[in-house]
Amino acid sequence: MPPRAQAAHQQSTHLAKQLRRKLAGQSVEPWHYRDFGSLVSLGQYSTVGSLMGKLVGQSFFVEGYFARVMYVSLYKMHEYALHGFVEVALDTAVRLITRRTEPHVKLH
Ligand SMILES: Cc1cc2nc3c(=O)[nH]c(=O)nc-3n(C[C@H](O)[C@H](O)[C@H](O)COP(=O)(O)OP(=O)(O)OC[C@H]3O[C@@H](n4cnc5c(N)ncnc54)[C@H](O)[C@@H]3O)c2cc1C
Repeated sequence: MPPRAQAAHQQSTHLAKQLRRKLAGQSVEPWHYRDFGSLVSLGQYSTVGSLMGKLVGQSFFVEGYFARVMYVSLYKMHEYALHGFVEVALDTAVRLITRRTEPHVKLH
């Protein structure tokens, strides 16, 4: 299993479900990792990735604008889950204004 946020997210969802089962006196189910693919942002240069899963079959390479839209959507969804709508909307607006002065590649 890759040491990535996708695996950590699936593990935490599974853990929350299994804790409820355990507290209800039910048996604990095994955990299986499902790889939905990866997206890598190369800043202003490009975005690349591979999608996996039932919708796209075995593995599907994506690149350019389509990959960029997917990456940004996923990133915003994560921010929304953590900070809520208002903070993400304000942060997005500020980034649109200040993006000329920001680094072009994600540094963390
Ligand atoms: C620099 C960097 C870049 C990364 N970039 C990506 C990326 O682009 N895409 C991607 O998918 N993955 C990326 N990862 C990997 C991803 O961050 C991890 O896989 C994911 O965060 C693991 O989540 P987790 O909840 O298991 O652990 P963590 O996110 O590490 O959370 C563990 C938490 O437990 C807390 N903690 C630890 N010990 C204790 C304690 N004794 N008591 C209380 N709290 C404690 C820590 O402070 C921390 O908040 C990156 C990792 C690093 C380091």
